Amino acid sequence: MSTLTFQGAVGEVTGSRYLLEVDGDGRQHALLLECGLHQGGAEADRANAKPLGALAKRLEAVVLSHGHLDHSGLLPKLVRDGYRGPIHCTRDTAELLEIMLEDAAFVMAKDIEFENKWRKRADKPLYTIDDVADTLALCVPHGYGQPVDLPGGVTLVFRDAGHILGSAIVELMVPSGGRQRHLVFSGDLGNPGSVLMKDPETLHEADLVLMESTYGDRDHRPLEETLEEFAQVLDDAQAAGGNVLIPAFAVGRTQEILYHLSVLYHEGRLKQQVVFLDSPMAIRVTELYNRLRKSLNRDDLKVLNVAAQGDPSQYLPILRLTRSVEESMAINRIHGGAIVIAGAGMCNGGRILHHFRYNLAKPSTRVVIVGFQAAGTLGRALVDGAERVKVLGEELPVKAKVHTIGGFSAHAGQSELIGWAGAFRNRPLFYLVHGEPEAQRVLQRALADAGIDAEIPDFQDCIPL
Ligand SMILES: [Zn+2]
Repeated sequence: MSTLTFQGAVGEVTGSRYLLEVDGDGRQHALLLECGLHQGGAEADRANAKPLGALAKRLEAVVLSHGHLDHSGLLPKLVRDGYRGPIHCTRDTAELLEIMLEDAAFVMAKDIEFENKWRKRADKPLYTIDDVADTLALCVPHGYGQPVDLPGGVTLVFRDAGHILGSAIVELMVPSGGRQRHLVFSGDLGNPGSVLMKDPETLHEADLVLMESTYGDRDHRPLEETLEEFAQVLDDAQAAGGNVLIPAFAVGRTQEILYHLSVLYHEGRLKQQVVFLDSPMAIRVTELYNRLRKSLNRDDLKVLNVAAQGDPSQYLPILRLTRSVEESMAINRIHGGAIVIAGAGMCNGGRILHHFRYNLAKPSTRVVIVGFQAAGTLGRALVDGAERVKVLGEELPVKAKVHTIGGFSAHAGQSELIGWAGAFRNRPLFYLVHGEPEAQRVLQRALADAGIDAEIPDFQDCIPL
């Protein structure tokens, strides 16, 4: 009998990892689905530091749904600890992975250097840029819908998950105890209401489904309302004479915000004179999205193409890409009329902090929060209405207006998850992964109301296929 073991992303939204042990041809074959980084706090650091050597030695193949670090971020550690087999992913994921993992190694090296200097320690990073290069060399890219043969007689097919560039739903045909079992892993499912990505593909056949449940407890606001709210904040900032600061998530959200700004610009509704994209990583990802725009939603791009007369550089003519530190610092001299998109998304580092230093104490500034802010981050403190915050070692009064615009999300909301689950015809068994416990319980009840049975697995649970 083949089995599946839940090694991560159970009762949490990060650290995705599932071990598939296949008995297909009388021999045991071990395959890994995802190898994600745990994110947030000391417990996550400890989980990330656990050696992967024993696992690496047994594995014959790795399958990856998409490039986000909570799904891919421990791959270089797996390789550092001895893995030399193929990493199967989609073509666009292979390209995005290069940017994601290089940045992760870069940030780790910087953090460790800082820690070692100030706490007089000699810690080593989880992996280095060399481990990242070794990892990228193992990637085997595939198109959507193409069957791929894996060890043990397993067949893999990627389907478009509509979440970020290259994201996939993973479909696996697995021999188990003399019969074929059909296993589907949703990966992260996209929000059909969001722009640029296509809608997640619906599947109809499966024996067993692992489904993400990040937003299992709620629906998102409709996009039109969200956009109206966004446009009003921009107008208000302009009337007040201040700058707009948008802490940016480099992949997906930034490109989506740039899209909406482009549409507003071509409608003549954008009053700001300049938009800065002030994050080297977000710039690289935006350029990749532009290069691979054939993979994106054609209808959304048509709107831009018509407006920009087919020239991508004209989508948003007032956009300035600031790569160097000097260019970034020059933005500090602008006291109003600019939109600054800068990382990091949760304000726990990056160039956004420097812009806070110059703008947060001004009542004319508008801070627009467009993504999830984890507990304990500076972004969360701002969302929660903190009157004073510490930025780069300096206490600042928060005089700026902080707006949280919750409607931009790259994840399916509850109704979409239930709709996606309901499309399977033969009543497969569902396992909820990638969600916080409360969201999972709410989704489990809502699925039950729709006649769908779903289990919430525990860490290290092993199920027969
Ligand atoms: Zn994701």
